[in-house]
Amino acid sequence: MNLVDPTGLSCTETQNGDYDCKIDIVSQDGNKKLTKEQKQFIAKFNKEYTKAFNNLIKERKNVTVGQNEFDKVGDSGFDISGSEVAINLIETKVTYEVGKTYGDALMTMAGDDRTGTQLRIYETARSIERPGDLQEHIVHEGIHGTRSERMGNPLYIIQGQSPYSDGHQKPYNDAARRLLGK
Ligand SMILES: [Zn+2]
Repeated sequence: MNLVDPTGLSCTETQNGDYDCKIDIVSQDGNKKLTKEQKQFIAKFNKEYTKAFNNLIKERKNVTVGQNEFDKVGDSGFDISGSEVAINLIETKVTYEVGKTYGDALMTMAGDDRTGTQLRIYETARSIERPGDLQEHIVHEGIHGTRSERMGNPLYIIQGQSPYSDGHQKPYNDAARRLLGK
């Protein structure tokens, strides 16, 4: 069963001006029912996605991703704004890959600003316990696929491979925290 969001946007504006964000597609094999834990996870994810998105547009921060730290992987960092990440997150197609894992990844972001982005959430993401951590992971993914990343991170073309894969974790997580105003 696929639950497809008819608007095609992951976040929609509510009457009070805040945004409401949710998973677009719950992708399941066959007719298996969601477990109670999976249903709870969807509710938790949607809540934290909504909080992260509203925080990004409220804070309106500009940060440098990987200032100093990227030197280790041959890069001097790039600038990005909270609104650019928010736009990426509003437009990305969010799929919960029910019952699936992808190595030890919690989520992956594919595509970029030219092709459109797709955020996939794996079962491993259910292990994220602190709600704040979930927000940080979502914003980290939201940096992927932006124009600023594509233009500013020379390692972009080898995304998914070493040293990018290991080297980007901390600087992206740090940037995500700062974009959230933490
Ligand atoms: Zn990443």
